[in-house]
Amino acid sequence: MDELVSRGIIIKQNNYGDAHRMLSIFTEDEGIIKAVRYGVRGKKASNAAAFQMLCYGDFKLRPSRGEIMTVVSADILDGFYPVSEDITKLSLLVYLADITYTLLGEANPDRRILSLFLNIAYAAAYRDEPYLKLKSAYELKLMCAGGYMPRLDSCGVCGGGAEYFSPGKGCMVCRAHHGAEDIKTSPGAAAVMRYIAGCPDKRMLSFSAKDDQYYKETSDITEKYVSAQAEKEFASLGYFKQMAGIT
Ligand SMILES: [Zn+2]
Repeated sequence: MDELVSRGIIIKQNNYGDAHRMLSIFTEDEGIIKAVRYGVRGKKASNAAAFQMLCYGDFKLRPSRGEIMTVVSADILDGFYPVSEDITKLSLLVYLADITYTLLGEANPDRRILSLFLNIAYAAAYRDEPYLKLKSAYELKLMCAGGYMPRLDSCGVCGGGAEYFSPGKGCMVCRAHHGAEDIKTSPGAAAVMRYIAGCPDKRMLSFSAKDDQYYKETSDITEKYVSAQAEKEFASLGYFKQMAGIT
C-alpha cells in the first residue's frame, strides 16, 4: 500500500511495547487516526521530539493491513513546546484533546474542529490567557461545531427568561422549567456563553469578562454540557483541575 502524507497534530500518545509509541494524530484529510512510531524510546531513538503530544506538521504514514498505520517520518511546523513545559497547560490540552476524540471519533475528518484545536494550542503556548477562558471557549465552540449549538437567548421550553442552563436539554431555561441538574446562570456568564457561541471561530478568545469569576462560572457550565452530551465523565478533567488547583 502506498504511503501518504497528512498534515495534523498529535493529540494523544501512549507507550507501545518497550521502545515504541502509539500516537493519535488529528489530521486534515483522514480525521483522527492511530499510528505507531517504532523505536521512539530507548537508546537508539532518533528525532523523538517530533513524535510527542501537540507536534503539528506533515506526517508520512504507511498504511498496514490492520487499522493502525506506521509513522515513517514527520516534518514538524510547530510543537507548541511552552505547553509541554507547563504541567497545568499540558493537562488542559490533554483534556481538550480527550473531549475532541470522544465527540469526533476516529476517521471522521473535520477541518473546522481541527482549526479550533490548533487555535487553542496556539493560545495556550504563546498567549497569556486564563486557563478557564481557554477551556470554556473551546468546550462551547467544540459543541457548536459538533452540532450541539445551545439555545442561549431565552428558555428553550417556553421562550421565557433565561435563568438556568440545562446541560441535558442543551439550552437555557426559565425558573418554572428548570430541573435539579440545571445550573443557575448569572447574566455575566450567559453573556460570555452567547459571545462564544455566536462569534466567528477565529475570534473565540477575543473577549474579556468583567471579572474572573465569570470564567469560572462559564467553565463549570460548559464542562457539564460536554459531559452530559457525551454521556461521559472525563478523568483528564479531574487531573487538570487538580493541577490548576480548582475545586
Ligand atoms: Zn420556561
